[in-house]
Amino acid sequence: MKISEGSISCTKQVINDVILMIRRYNYFGADLSASLNDADLTILIPDESAYPTLGNESMIEFRGYAKGNNIILFFTRYETIKSVEWLLLHEIGHWVLMQNQASAAFMAISRQQHYKAAGIYKGANTIYYFEPGFHKEYMKDKVHDADPEENLSNLFATAIIGEDLGRPWWRANIEKVNAQ
Ligand SMILES: [Zn+2]
Repeated sequence: MKISEGSISCTKQVINDVILMIRRYNYFGADLSASLNDADLTILIPDESAYPTLGNESMIEFRGYAKGNNIILFFTRYETIKSVEWLLLHEIGHWVLMQNQASAAFMAISRQQHYKAAGIYKGANTIYYFEPGFHKEYMKDKVHDADPEENLSNLFATAIIGEDLGRPWWRANIEKVNAQ
């Protein structure tokens, strides 16, 4: 596992804590933390002004994302060490599901069906995430958290951390921090 430049002092603590937590969840000898050694891990710690954009859209509605072997976490003032650990586990969940072509296809087909059933995917494009307006919908907390892959990653992170530090917690914490 590599940590890119831009990390702050808590980065190592977050990663070490997460590896230790995953080791405790070693089922049937399948050690997820061992396979994490191959992952490039990038943790960005910007304030909101440094949020990157995805196409023309700001990533402000995202706390982090996993792309290829990179995991990007936005360590804003609305996060805590524990919530960043939860976030890292959540993104590791996405990363795990993309490690294998079969599981990636399984998730893509299931997600497409989910968005079709929800009326968000109408078949205008061959792939649901190219559907007009998809990303606008996906940024809504309710739509985001109902997504099968998001749901799995939320369950995974919450099981290991012991409490749900997902979007409802994050939204409440934004209000709390802004009120201070
Ligand atoms: Zn996610």
